[in-house]
Amino acid sequence: MRADDTPLIRLEDYRPSDWLIDTVDLDISLHPQKTRVRALLGLRPNPAGRPGAPLILDGDELSLSGLRLDGLLIDESAYSATAQGLTLHAPPHRRFTLTIDTQVDPSANTKLMGLYRSSRVYCTQCEADGFRRISYFLDRPDVMSVYTVRLEAAKIEAPVLLSNGNLVAAGEMAGGERHFAVWHDPHPKPAYLFALVGGALDHVRQDYVTADGRKVELAVHVEPGKAGRAGWAMDCLVRCMRWDERVFGRNYDLDVFNVVAVSDFNMGAMENKGLNIFNDKYVLADPQTATDGDYASIEAIIAHEYFHNWTGNRITCRDWFQLCLKEGLTVFRDQEFSADERSRPVKRIADVRTLRSTQFSEDAGPLAHPVRPRAYKEINNFYTPTVYEKGAEVIRMLKLLVGDDAFRAGMDLYFERCDGTAATIEEFLACFAETSGKDLTQFARWYEQAGTPTIVASGRYDAAARTYTLDLAQTTAPTPGQPDKQPVVLPVALGLVGKAGDLPLVTGSAAYAGDGVIVLDQPSLSVAFSDVDEPPIPSLLRGFSAPARLELDLADADLLRLFSADSDSFNRWQALQSVASRALVSAGRSPGGHNALIATAGELAEALAGFLRVQAPADPAFAAQVLRLPVPADIAREIGRDVDPDAIHAAHRSLAAEIGLRLRPHLMELRERLGTSAAYRPDAASAGRRALRNEALGLIALADPEAGAHLAEAQFAAADNLTDRLAALAAMTLVAGDAREALIARFGKTYAAEPLVLDKWLMAQALIAEPGTLDRVKGLMQHPAFSLGNPNRVRALIGGFAANLTQFNRPDGEGYAFVADMVVALDRTNPQVASRLLGSFKSWRMLEPARKALAEQKLAMVAQTPGLSRDVADIAERALA
Ligand SMILES: [Zn+2]
Repeated sequence: MRADDTPLIRLEDYRPSDWLIDTVDLDISLHPQKTRVRALLGLRPNPAGRPGAPLILDGDELSLSGLRLDGLLIDESAYSATAQGLTLHAPPHRRFTLTIDTQVDPSANTKLMGLYRSSRVYCTQCEADGFRRISYFLDRPDVMSVYTVRLEAAKIEAPVLLSNGNLVAAGEMAGGERHFAVWHDPHPKPAYLFALVGGALDHVRQDYVTADGRKVELAVHVEPGKAGRAGWAMDCLVRCMRWDERVFGRNYDLDVFNVVAVSDFNMGAMENKGLNIFNDKYVLADPQTATDGDYASIEAIIAHEYFHNWTGNRITCRDWFQLCLKEGLTVFRDQEFSADERSRPVKRIADVRTLRSTQFSEDAGPLAHPVRPRAYKEINNFYTPTVYEKGAEVIRMLKLLVGDDAFRAGMDLYFERCDGTAATIEEFLACFAETSGKDLTQFARWYEQAGTPTIVASGRYDAAARTYTLDLAQTTAPTPGQPDKQPVVLPVALGLVGKAGDLPLVTGSAAYAGDGVIVLDQPSLSVAFSDVDEPPIPSLLRGFSAPARLELDLADADLLRLFSADSDSFNRWQALQSVASRALVSAGRSPGGHNALIATAGELAEALAGFLRVQAPADPAFAAQVLRLPVPADIAREIGRDVDPDAIHAAHRSLAAEIGLRLRPHLMELRERLGTSAAYRPDAASAGRRALRNEALGLIALADPEAGAHLAEAQFAAADNLTDRLAALAAMTLVAGDAREALIARFGKTYAAEPLVLDKWLMAQALIAEPGTLDRVKGLMQHPAFSLGNPNRVRALIGGFAANLTQFNRPDGEGYAFVADMVVALDRTNPQVASRLLGSFKSWRMLEPARKALAEQKLAMVAQTPGLSRDVADIAERALA
């Protein structure tokens, strides 16, 4: 189907379902090719629906093998059934049951939506609309039902049978070859939260007692032989359950909680009620096969999916336009959990890096859309950084604006009032308006208006009057479909930094909300501070208090003073980033400004030298963030037009190399000091030390390739963990030559049997910023570990290449051609993975004319391919619009 033939689904067209399904009894007999599904639906007319309306059930690639109404066969003239739906033309206007028989082929399901097999394990993925690939259904989130699920399978093939809720019966079938299990979930839920798993799985188990006294059996299920790698996920699960009890007063509500890891999965993980299904990348961890980053991701994602039990499952979304209601809120909750478990400032810096590189770039291109989109053709294309990460920023701003107490009270009210319902953003915000007494009408604009606001700030000091006046203005550039932007509510956390630290903030301005926050909700405003005894340096957007760009023209010297004197850790980090970013933008715009770069490197190195000696050893995780320059993609976005990726890359390299050269003795000394002979531990403090050592290694490798290569080889040989080995490989990829090729080969051989580690190896090679990389990537597609059928392999190698700024954007267009061909090839088997990959073209419009033309050609080629999926057609159409 072509996207332009696909109906546009609009928020304003929402109307309640004409029918409701109170109960669903599923009887599923699992077979690799011929799985039989019988669904017994308890239906009734919805009082809010249209009386006498037909019953129209959704389907996707289904075939009907039996249909009964209240147990009796129905005349064929009373219904029509196609692969895409089942319609009862004139159902009785009363309660009735419908028994629907379908048969599905899990082995042939390469889309990984609905019921499929992954490494011989039966599993499901039903969000957003996968359930309709299992049975005909009212597949929409506002139809919530109580499920009872009977699973049956060959014992040898699927000794473990899991579904949502609690296990109520299990046993053997006559003959002893097959067995069954019956699961009942007492909590009404939409079909997208249905799940089943059947297979041979190992597990770890742990008992848990909730704060309100419920005994829960927790289990993490993994492929046979991998139970030894499930301990960390279990540890994270227990910690996040306690945290949600303590911080949000939320207890778990079933007798069992199962987590299952599968190797073929389109997303990160899925929060199915009581049965979370994970991409194994986000469950399996041991020091030999997972990095510190993996440990942190597992912690965040285990928590995220668990937190959905309340924000997503108990209270779900009325329709998919409200996706951010569950996702933005739950990302905020997992970010807070990680911040409490680790370093809050470091977590914030990491989250803002992600926000800028993924969401700001989305906002700046043709795929920009509001946190709550108003229309879509394919909902799978809206699981985006805007809905997730910007959605979380909106919650963070809400908390800052209403205050901690009213925020917690608002959450409590939301849980109480909306429990068991499918809710909207309006219902959510009403809770906080009520507990805070604030009017949130203008704040709600964050959900409706796309684009990253820019705050333009400037300050004036009047020594005679002892006043400091801060002028703030906001603008948001047009985005597709939204040419004119309204002002949004921007909480600007700030300080005025004097010689001895923060100056008191004395002002009578109505825009000052107290606690160091100005609320910028007008196009522009001025705030005058009095009793200011010295000219201050403004420290704005502390803690990144709003997802905005800040334009504030501070001299490098002032920024460097903020780096050393600001009481806000985030802005200390931001100050150095700003110095580096300004120099890189300038050099990226007009190559040849080498001297200016050298001068900036000198300033940065001087500021860093003292920091590395004195403060870095005390907070290595923060120091590692400080040492890392803004990424080239962020510089490209700041430049915004006529972007030459090679110029940016060259500037980035030379700035890093120059800093590395000047700091080399300090970096070497620091590596010595932080070196440890203790065995690997994944805790945040140990991870911080490794991060700093490895950041130092990267700078040394750029400054002195030969010395870097020696260090990397030695580190690889001596390391007892994957973090240090992978960092050695990454440093080595910066330096062309035989030593690099040898280490790549050695790494590949060492981890030949570990697909998740090989993903990192594939990606490290795909990211090499050299013209030979395209051929290398094509060659690696022939590697025995690579498969186009596995989303993790595809994302690592092909997705890695598409994220390679200089090589994806090769001047000859071959990078675009390769990725476009891959999109078309993948679309035949897995449209979701294909459309994500096509999203790599999202920044094509900002390129210089020659590259822009080549990228557009390839996008057009994709768009014109016959038989395209709706997922890919939609992205191609929007990217070209
Ligand atoms: Zn989620």
